[in-house]
Amino acid sequence: TRTPVTVTVTGAAGQIGYALLFRIASGQLLGADVPVKLRLLEIPQGLKAAEGTAMELDDCAFPLLQGIDISDDPNVGFDGANVALLVGARPRTKGMERGDLLEANGGIFKPQGKAINDHAADDIRVLVVGNPANTNALIAQAAAPDVPAERFTAMTRLDHNRALSQLSKKTGAPVSEIKKLTIWGNHSATQYPDVFHAEVAGKNAAEVVSDEQWLADTFIPTVAKRGAAIIEARGASSAASAANAAIDHVHTWVNGTAADDWTSAGVVSDGSYGVPEGLISSFPVTAKDGKFEIVQGLDINEFSRTRIDASVKELEDEREAVRGLGLI
Ligand code: NDP
Repeated sequence: TRTPVTVTVTGAAGQIGYALLFRIASGQLLGADVPVKLRLLEIPQGLKAAEGTAMELDDCAFPLLQGIDISDDPNVGFDGANVALLVGARPRTKGMERGDLLEANGGIFKPQGKAINDHAADDIRVLVVGNPANTNALIAQAAAPDVPAERFTAMTRLDHNRALSQLSKKTGAPVSEIKKLTIWGNHSATQYPDVFHAEVAGKNAAEVVSDEQWLADTFIPTVAKRGAAIIEARGASSAASAANAAIDHVHTWVNGTAADDWTSAGVVSDGSYGVPEGLISSFPVTAKDGKFEIVQGLDINEFSRTRIDASVKELEDEREAVRGLGLI
């Protein structure tokens, strides 16, 4: 029998947490043969609701679930963690400036990064979902100097999946036949979904679509503003699809990408494609042996270049702001 993997979820009592935990416990995160222990981290006000979720998890009698611990102390919540899904974050409220938002989240992600540094397992892998995800990941990473920087990632898989779905609708090809799509940059309205290297049923996606205006005026804004459209329709932000993307991200990270495909993830830049080193930016990535690698050598056309640069510029500004606040 395999030793259980400890998975810590922060913001466990929130909407995404509720959509995520049952899927982790059922084996969808790591595999149907991998037992898991769950650690639910919440702020004090969230503890009671987390206990309720834990009761429901018990009531599912998941064969793979070997224990649930609940805490409001990051030092306890990350103790021995192999995988950490950082979902809980301070949302932007009305009238809040970006600096205030970054500062409030620094107060969450800096101590969490330190607790990960001091208490997590040696093979810890971190996915940040809570927004602003890229910069929250950077803050946590900077607070964890003993953990290899590449273990801190930010989620752009939901954007990637949204782009796959939009391209599938446009071309009529099933998502299973769409490959090598890329989300570049920040998980924000400036993100750039790139189809120029993508393939639809083996053909170049940009040629299949052959409509730059559709790309610029419909596809890109639809993907980038999908979150707002869901809030408008549902009256609540996306939760099941965000949880699904978190599952996809970690599953791919651990189990690898197909030989003829890649995915998108926010990973620490090594300077590739002119993205300043150290920023956590979304790239085309493959995964092998438990490691993400940035796909190299793609030609970037003018259309893409300006959009990648704009999103990366936003990440640089966020990094400057959190530096100014002493958060990194
Ligand atoms: P959700 O579970 O809906 O969202 C959690 C975070 O995920 C938010 O920052 C949200 O960003 C982000 N997110 C990223 N991608 C998406 C997406 N595609 N769609 C929707 N959200 C996305 O929030 P809830 O308010 O329901 O729950 C948050 C929980 O976190 C609460 O229970 C709270 O107590 C807890 N919390 C825990 C902390 C901790 O453990 N230390 C710290 C802070 C909060 P956005 O706001 O931009 O949508």
